[in-house]
Amino acid sequence: THTLNIVGGGMAGSEAAWQAANAGLKVVIHEMRPKVETFAHRTGHLGEMVCSNSFRSDDHEQNAVGLLHWEMRAANGLIMQTAAKHRLPAGGALAVDRDPFAESVTAALTAHPNISVSYEEITALPDSGDWIIATGPLTSGTLAEAIRVETGADQLAFFDAIAPIVYADTVNMDVAWMQSRYDKGETEDERTAYLNCPMTRDQYEAFIDALLASDKTEFKEGETAKYFDGCLPIEVMAERGRETLRFGPMKPVGLTNAHDPATKPYAVVQLRRDNALGTLYNIVGFQTKMKYGAQKAVFKTIPGLEDAEFARLGGIHRNTFINAPTLLDSQMRLKSRPNIRFAGQITGVEGYVESAAMGLLAARMAVAQAHGLTLPDVPATTAMGALVTHITGGADAKTFQPMNVNFGLFPPLEGTGIKGGRRNRKDRYKAYTDRAKADWTDWLARTVPVPA
Ligand code: FAD
Repeated sequence: THTLNIVGGGMAGSEAAWQAANAGLKVVIHEMRPKVETFAHRTGHLGEMVCSNSFRSDDHEQNAVGLLHWEMRAANGLIMQTAAKHRLPAGGALAVDRDPFAESVTAALTAHPNISVSYEEITALPDSGDWIIATGPLTSGTLAEAIRVETGADQLAFFDAIAPIVYADTVNMDVAWMQSRYDKGETEDERTAYLNCPMTRDQYEAFIDALLASDKTEFKEGETAKYFDGCLPIEVMAERGRETLRFGPMKPVGLTNAHDPATKPYAVVQLRRDNALGTLYNIVGFQTKMKYGAQKAVFKTIPGLEDAEFARLGGIHRNTFINAPTLLDSQMRLKSRPNIRFAGQITGVEGYVESAAMGLLAARMAVAQAHGLTLPDVPATTAMGALVTHITGGADAKTFQPMNVNFGLFPPLEGTGIKGGRRNRKDRYKAYTDRAKADWTDWLARTVPVPA
């Protein structure tokens, strides 16, 4: 029988092992805990939740992560099935009793006749055999170094520095306009990559005051070491001087307000297209440690973003991840070593559910390959497909930062998008999830795991 090696028994590795073992492969999970610890894990269990005990919204009609729950359940997912057993009352969220949850995941995997667990740290990229690397945001230093040597230093990050991302169709285009600085760009695509929000002097001064007064998350020890030179949080820039932002990411040069060409803006907030679909834009240079509530309040004072909705808010964390859009093929294989797949948070998805989902998919791809087959592409209209499409090519590799699942990753429905009309949001989300469920069900039926 074919053997699949999985490095890391976290959210992604546990789900991957379950899927592959149920499809008949022999699976070896290589997990370094409890021998080697991370700063966040507390136990030696597989499937340990490192921080919150929530898998977020379980609403599969109105919420993209709830839809991902639904899709994983339809695919016999271990993480969802175990979560159901240890569910705690938490309104619309799927929260669990974390220790019994992880004990249950561990028990299910160790009892499986096709799975064995080897408690060891993997320190090099294996040359032969089939592997899935799912070592997560806290990948051990030796393995991270091996990955860095293989991929090049600029392709592996140790921190994320996430600028907030807004849904394009919630930007007020009566105030904002589309233009690249100095109208640079060879193609129409490049010239339309930016949206601009103008500020008067008073608006800028009020914005700086709001930044300085906002609630921030403190940095943990050692957290600031590596990223700090290249991408300062905006509130730190504002602390360095009231004009710093106006000469940095908010500089108004090379831009003419299409709605009022005669008036030179005092400062400009630029948004850059974040995905090929053009449904998401990030606020350029706005990585931040402001708390989520403060971010929403402060960013809504930006002219044009009064009603903006955020696909994700900004943040800066310790996080090991590869530049997946550059390094992985559509089957989640490392292009330079196709015997190795990557899955989980190290591929640049963000969150327990997203990580487990990418484990589920990577394992099914590995199973197909073990039988000499290739899985058909997952429809981008599903939550699973939207995520994998994003990390393996839909995202802009130059500005790639970890991403939660959200409806901005889905191909727009008729009549929406940046120039389209605004359908009632509830109807739109329902239409997204209905389409996803039909397409996921169809895809699963076409890709039943081949028995060994
Ligand atoms: P993990 O679950 O971390 O699993 C990776 C596994 O690989 C670990 O068990 C690790 O011990 C093992 N490993 C690492 N290196 C090696 C090696 N060389 N050899 C063998 N084994 C190795 N997400 C949320 O959704 N909600 C939260 O509240 C949340 N809080 C977080 C807090 C912190 C401090 C951090 C760092 C992350 C947090 N995340 C949170 C993100 C979360 O870690 C991921 O969403 C999820 O755990 C990632 O799953 P994964 O399987 O990719 O990695």
